[in-house]
Amino acid sequence: MTKSYDVVVIGTGMGSLTAASLLAKEGLQVLALEQNYLPGGCTSAYWRKGFVFESGATTLVGLDETMPLRHLLDTLGLTLAPIRLGLPMQVHLKDGTVVNRYEDLEAWIAEAERVFGVHNQRPFWTLCYQISQFVWETSMKQTAFPPRNLRDLWLCARRATLKQFRFARYAFTTVEDLLRRFGLLSNARFVEFVNEQLLITAQNYLAEVNMLFGATALCYTNFGNYYMPGGLINLVNPLIAYIEEKGGQVHLREGVQQIDYQQNTYQIRTNKDTYTARFLVSGIPLNNTLELYDKGYGKAYKRQLMDSSLLNSAFQVGIGFDIPPNQPWESIHHQIHLPAPLPQIGSHSIFVSLSHPDDPSRCDQPNQRVASVSTHIPHPAQTVIHDKQAIVQYILDLLIEKGFFRAEDIVYTHASAQQSWQKWTGRAFGFVGGYPQLKRVKPWQMVEARLDGKKAYLCGDTTYPGQGIPGTVLSGIIAAEKLRRDWL
Ligand SMILES: Cc1cc2nc3c(=O)[nH]c(=O)nc-3n(C[C@H](O)[C@H](O)[C@H](O)COP(=O)(O)OP(=O)(O)OC[C@H]3O[C@@H](n4cnc5c(N)ncnc54)[C@H](O)[C@@H]3O)c2cc1C
Repeated sequence: MTKSYDVVVIGTGMGSLTAASLLAKEGLQVLALEQNYLPGGCTSAYWRKGFVFESGATTLVGLDETMPLRHLLDTLGLTLAPIRLGLPMQVHLKDGTVVNRYEDLEAWIAEAERVFGVHNQRPFWTLCYQISQFVWETSMKQTAFPPRNLRDLWLCARRATLKQFRFARYAFTTVEDLLRRFGLLSNARFVEFVNEQLLITAQNYLAEVNMLFGATALCYTNFGNYYMPGGLINLVNPLIAYIEEKGGQVHLREGVQQIDYQQNTYQIRTNKDTYTARFLVSGIPLNNTLELYDKGYGKAYKRQLMDSSLLNSAFQVGIGFDIPPNQPWESIHHQIHLPAPLPQIGSHSIFVSLSHPDDPSRCDQPNQRVASVSTHIPHPAQTVIHDKQAIVQYILDLLIEKGFFRAEDIVYTHASAQQSWQKWTGRAFGFVGGYPQLKRVKPWQMVEARLDGKKAYLCGDTTYPGQGIPGTVLSGIIAAEKLRRDWL
């Protein structure tokens, strides 16, 4: 007999699990289906040769007051014990200068002035910080955004403040516009810095990123940055435990293959079974969702659906190593700007995250650590990597030169590219990181949570506001809230 649930959720990424746990809290019977053998998607971990490697995400923000992850954990009554980072990130410029991305705004402005010159760094960063504070404050207040019906509009209007109107203009200003206004566009070193920093969360460069998203990306390190002992899978597992505690189920190795909607009910066919549900929440990218359930809705997304040419995948290297006698770096997160584009891929920086020195749980041996290295692969359907090992060697040589470890300290390495992402997450073209910010797409034109105008909803990093753990968590909060307001 076909099993029935109140809501079937596709995937167990941070977007899906956020929506699933909030709907389970509402008393709905939830089934989350995950095609992989492990949950979490791009926020997961896997054990290999005595080391626990992060699947994708390594940095964590969103736990401060008014931020989405804080809201989620408080709503569910979950307590985590992440380590707050003293120095969130260090950026290694092409010329070898190391920039300390201090959390404290004054300390950061002084550092920016030291490295990039005093001209207008203060007003630029002060404004960026104000905008990013505004964005975080507003995000949890405007959960009807982007509005798609009169009720949404009414809720947005009711919660609107003068400050929101004042800051809304930054949706029309790009980061490039603001740099021009502050006379910083001619500071080539600063422009390069800004571009690579933007790429981490906004997935695009200064001419395409609006100031609302741009300021939030640039001030990422000016908010509480955290490390989860054991890896970010320990953010995922408590959500799964919560769903199960509320009577819901999470099925691994069960991929959704087709969705139909008949007589007010969704029929969800997987590789193992068929289920029916009153509601559907898809936490997989819009591209994948429309492959399972189009019914002509694809047309409505014509302007929003992005193809490989606009998207990125990631080349990753996981490294397990013996701790060398001298560890020169204060931070666990490093963006290293490359002297020349990375061979075969063409990216201009790599991102390196180390396991925390106070977290022995990710290595079998106490004298070892893990490094997760990633870089963007543009246009993943087209970019061909001929010699993976050559890229790995380039990255290892660079990290040895920067003193992260010595050649003799390396115990284990492995690398993956877009094909691995496609297998691990099922995501079209193996693209990751969400839809990049584009100048032509204003925040209210981004993909919204209602999929078919019936009882199917969307969340994850291709749905507003997407991008990164905070964005996907917020997309899950919005999907659950829109579903609740529409039907419960
Ligand atoms: C290399 C890398 C580094 C990153 N670094 C950071 C970082 O430092 N900080 C940060 O905040 N963010 C980071 N991100 C981004 C962040 O990890 C993602 O945006 C976020 O985790 C995406 O979550 P999601 O819920 O949208 O989707 P996903 O994580 O993609 O989850 C979707 C899930 O659905 C499953 N699925 C797919 N198809 C089906 C199907 N048909 N049936 C059933 N299940 C299915 C997948 O297996 C997957 O588990 C990084 C991403 C990558 C790839």
